[in-house]
Amino acid sequence: MPSDSNNIYDALIVGAGPGGAHLAYLLAVQGLRVAIIDKETFPRHKVCGGGLSRKAVNLLGCDLGPVLQQPITGAILTYRNRDTVIKDIEPMAACTVLRDEFDHLLLERACAHGARFFPATAFVDAAESADALSVATTGGLLRCRLLLAADGAASTVRNKIFGKDAVAYVPALEAMLHPADGVLERFGRRAVFDFGGMPRGYGWIFPKRDHFNVGVYSPFGGTALRRHLDQFIAHYACLQQPARIAYQGYIIPLRNHRQLFQRGRIWLIGDAAGLAEALFGEGIYFALKSATLAADAIARDGLRVDSDRYSQLLRRELLPELRAATWMARLAFRFPKQTFSHLVLHQQVSDDFAGLISGEIGYRNCLLKTAKGFPRWLRASKPTMDLPAL
Ligand SMILES: Cc1cc2nc3c(=O)[nH]c(=O)nc-3n(C[C@H](O)[C@H](O)[C@H](O)COP(=O)(O)OP(=O)(O)OC[C@H]3O[C@@H](n4cnc5c(N)ncnc54)[C@H](O)[C@@H]3O)c2cc1C
Repeated sequence: MPSDSNNIYDALIVGAGPGGAHLAYLLAVQGLRVAIIDKETFPRHKVCGGGLSRKAVNLLGCDLGPVLQQPITGAILTYRNRDTVIKDIEPMAACTVLRDEFDHLLLERACAHGARFFPATAFVDAAESADALSVATTGGLLRCRLLLAADGAASTVRNKIFGKDAVAYVPALEAMLHPADGVLERFGRRAVFDFGGMPRGYGWIFPKRDHFNVGVYSPFGGTALRRHLDQFIAHYACLQQPARIAYQGYIIPLRNHRQLFQRGRIWLIGDAAGLAEALFGEGIYFALKSATLAADAIARDGLRVDSDRYSQLLRRELLPELRAATWMARLAFRFPKQTFSHLVLHQQVSDDFAGLISGEIGYRNCLLKTAKGFPRWLRASKPTMDLPAL
């Protein structure tokens, strides 16, 4: 039971997803008194493609071996499984995980370094006094100097403290598809990114140990995602006549309208802050990175209530990348066929796209290079890639 109101934690983290668990670890390593609450007991299921870019893996700096599903050694960039370009990426571009296992591993690491975890404990409300916050949870009262909200895209903390309309989000739908025998082995270790996967969006196929995670998403939002996902699946022979298929969907938060990340002793982290990127819908790296920046700010300024260093770091290191990703998403998915045939099929651009997936190149840099080369690529004849359909 969390009722622990005589103790004051230096940091109370709400939400034990990757953002919250990584932050709990980083603050515990700094020697702070850290508590982390989650409304679920762990391990818990989480709707997610489970694609971890190399830059996310590097940021964690821990051995993911025990939870690794599949190393991803390349990207198949395609338009409706017709024109296709394969980019093999060395070293490993990314990997896939199951979120219940991955999140649990990060939480266990935080606890092993001294963070105290309260499962099945939901945030309810917070009240500020001169030197601390009193936090009401479904398990009782907790007190802390800083409240770090990493409670996901539908964040209760954000809705209560920053307002219900602080963040814009879009839906995404995925299916766990268990294919016929032998299909996964033949498919190999590449991930598919299909620019015709859904109108004004894309479709992905991520291989796991015993199934594919297949999904669709558009940064413009959209309806009838189930129909789009079924149409996307219908383009791929390897996805036909599965032994089992289960659908699930959730939201991806793409924008923090007022760019407000701190209010007094309460800070927003990861999805709660609206920090997923718009091009691929990647959110784990940005949750981890925002946790890293929050920990850096605390290391520099301590628990000072008037420090805005975290917001400054976000503005300097993360938001410009996210803005560039939004521009790229708008351009790429408004004219997906043209983007694919005039840009992605060209070696330089497809190299850069693959670099984005691994994290080798940043979004700003990629956008700039693409804009510079655009007139040349537009005039050039289309290179042909004739690869067997999947
Ligand atoms: C269909 C889909 C596919 C995706 N695929 C990918 C992908 O392949 N790669 C990628 O990088 N990103 C992907 N994302 C995005 C990714 O899932 C998120 O960006 C990421 O989980 C954000 O991490 P987080 O730690 O900020 O929040 P979360 O992982 O959402 O964790 C929030 C935690 O807070 C807890 N919580 C919620 N409310 C409360 C409360 N009131 N009190 C206490 N605890 C609470 C929850 O139980 C949860 O454990 C996908 C998203 C969707 C919808």
